[in-house]
Formats: sequence, structure tokens, C-alpha cells
Amino acid sequence: MIERTFVMIKPDGVKRGLIGEVIKRFEQAGLKIVGLKMYRMDKEEADEFYPADDEWFESVGNKTLSSYNELGIDAKKELGTDNPKEIGKMIKQWLLDYVSSGPVILMVLEGNHAIKKVRDMIGSTIPIKAQPGTIRGDFSVDSADWANIGKRAIMNIVHASDSQERAEYEIKFWFKENELYNYKRLEEYLL
Ligand code: UDP
Ligand code: MG
Repeated sequence: MIERTFVMIKPDGVKRGLIGEVIKRFEQAGLKIVGLKMYRMDKEEADEFYPADDEWFESVGNKTLSSYNELGIDAKKELGTDNPKEIGKMIKQWLLDYVSSGPVILMVLEGNHAIKKVRDMIGSTIPIKAQPGTIRGDFSVDSADWANIGKRAIMNIVHASDSQERAEYEIKFWFKENELYNYKRLEEYLL
């Protein structure tokens, strides 16, 4: 099950000097870096990169709604709506501002079940819910209520593809064929 997946170190990860730390974790887990670059995207590119289907908007909105539920916060009062799709659309706009606010690191990682492995390594979307040991859990403390009050997206250091389909789209979106490299890690010679 050798897969390729796409990872982005978001502007907060770059600005906090965590590029090396994040890459180190993937490298030492045995994931092979097959593409890597720094880039500053604009809002239009970010908009094309992130999904725009109702299912995704709802899933994003529901992350805020379940946090609000746990905290006893009234979504309608706070955000003007309690419709997950509408909240998801609002959050996407904040997300576009966030990921275009500074340079990011774009990379493609290859390895056994890489898509799930990397998702497990980054941890839950909402940093205060991300387990210690995960990248988001170890390096960030943001939450939905805090971010939404500031009308901004949750800052959580990294992005990673969440499915085979998204991985293919995301890799193709940011990397040309000749920017991806085939080589063996040293331990592969021993197999
Ligand atoms: N996001 C947010 N508030 C939310 C849900 C998501 O600000 O309630 C932001 C956050 O930066 C997240 C990104 O939108 O990383 C994409 O959301 P998704 O549900 O795809 O989470 P991920 O796949 O990054 O864990
Ligand atoms: Mg996602």
C-alpha cells in the first residue's frame, strides 16, 4: 500500500520556526520526501485548492458547532447562523486569508499507508483536542471559539490530504510531474 500524500506547513508553522521540526517527524517515521518547496499562494489559488462541495462545508461547520455545543455557546448569536453549511462557507473565507497570509511549505510524502499515517501524525483539526504526540497537539493551542471570535481560521500548523482522491488532486495541484522525485531511502536497499 505505498501511497503518496500532500502536506502543507501553514504560515503559522513557518513563522514559528517549525519547518524543520515538522519535516523531521515525517522523515523519522520513515516517510520519504518526494517533493518539497516554499511558496506564497494568493487567495484565488487557495480557493481552488480547498474543496467547495456541500459535504465539506458541512463537515467544517460541524466542527465549530460541536465545539460550541460542548461549551454551551449559541452559534446563532455568535455567528448569525447555526446552519453547518453556512458556517463552513464563512470559515472557508477565513481559511483563505490564513493560508495566503505568508509563505508555506508544500511537500509530497511517500510511504506505506502514507495518507492515514500522516493524518494520524498531525492529529485532530482543533489543536486543543489534538492528542499530545501529534504535531497539532504538541505545537498549537487554538480552538474554534477563540478563532471564530477573532473572525479567523483555526491556526493548526499543518494541512494533510484526508483521502486517496484528495491526495491525487492536491499533489497535482501544487506539483508538476518533474518536481517529484523517485529514489530509494537507504533502508530500502536492505529489503
Ligand atoms: N477550520 C476552522 N474552523 C473549523 C473547522 C476548520 O478554522 O471549525 C480550518 C482549520 O484551519 C482547518 C481547515 O479549516 O485545518 C480545514 O478544515 P478541515 O475540516 O478540512 O480540517 P483538517 O483536514 O485540516 O483537519
Ligand atoms: Mg481537510
